[in-house]
Amino acid sequence: MIVDVHTHTPRYRTRPEVEVAGFNRPDMAPMRPGQQNPGAYTWDDYLRAMETVDKAICFNIAAPPPEDPTEPVGPVAPARELNDEAAALIRAYPDKIIGFLAVHPRDPCALAEIERATGDLGLRGIKLGPNYQNFDPLGEDAFRIYRRAAELKLPILFHQGTSPVRHADLDFAHPRHIDRVAMAFPDLKIILAHLAHPWHADCIAVIRKHPNVYADISANFYRPWQYYNGMRLATEWGVLDKLLFGSDYPVATPQETMDAIYRVNDPIAGTGLPPVPIDEFEKVINRDSLALLGLAG
Ligand SMILES: [Zn+2]
Repeated sequence: MIVDVHTHTPRYRTRPEVEVAGFNRPDMAPMRPGQQNPGAYTWDDYLRAMETVDKAICFNIAAPPPEDPTEPVGPVAPARELNDEAAALIRAYPDKIIGFLAVHPRDPCALAEIERATGDLGLRGIKLGPNYQNFDPLGEDAFRIYRRAAELKLPILFHQGTSPVRHADLDFAHPRHIDRVAMAFPDLKIILAHLAHPWHADCIAVIRKHPNVYADISANFYRPWQYYNGMRLATEWGVLDKLLFGSDYPVATPQETMDAIYRVNDPIAGTGLPPVPIDEFEKVINRDSLALLGLAG
């Protein structure tokens, strides 16, 4: 079974008549070298891209609540809207798609929204982006979310690593902070997105010591030298078995991400540098991430 643990919920059932920004916003540098950031994509676009996987986890990122002193940055939107959109998609494709909820830790209604999204809406995990959402991952607001997630056995996927959004605080997305989260909540299932690129080594330092902390490989392959280095580090530190398959759709498709696994050693062709063992790395594709995250069945 192939599970894509990192996809962004399409916000449009059909193509919008007016042009929408999507990820293509003036405050964002290109996410993928040489490509414009994706604009609007529809349910059909999404489902077509997901034909190559058996299951996909979808989510988006909640904006700060209206009364919050910080400005929304990057592709964020109100939590309720995003959760309703994810719920509509999973209701239409319940055998294929699993939805994670969006919530902002400083939202006074955050805990109530978690109840609504996991109860009525059937969402089964949480997506947080500490940099995009401008919250301290070690602050009390965030810990209140982690505590509830641990009680409800909801895995949390954190955006980790760099981001092209100018005003998103990079340090909030550094994986070293998640070490303390994992120590405080040893049973909480956590995914660090993107192997926290370009902080692969720091991400590996965290996932190797916590049995319930994983990393997804999404959004790495289009920087071939960094991709090779990250996966080579993961090999040396013995954490290839902690890596989960993810695409970061719509920035890349699952098919592209799968194909790239077999090209990881291209940058070292003709050199004496040590290869990433493809037979071990390709196990990422068929890893039963849902079982690991407690979401099977
Ligand atoms: Zn993403």
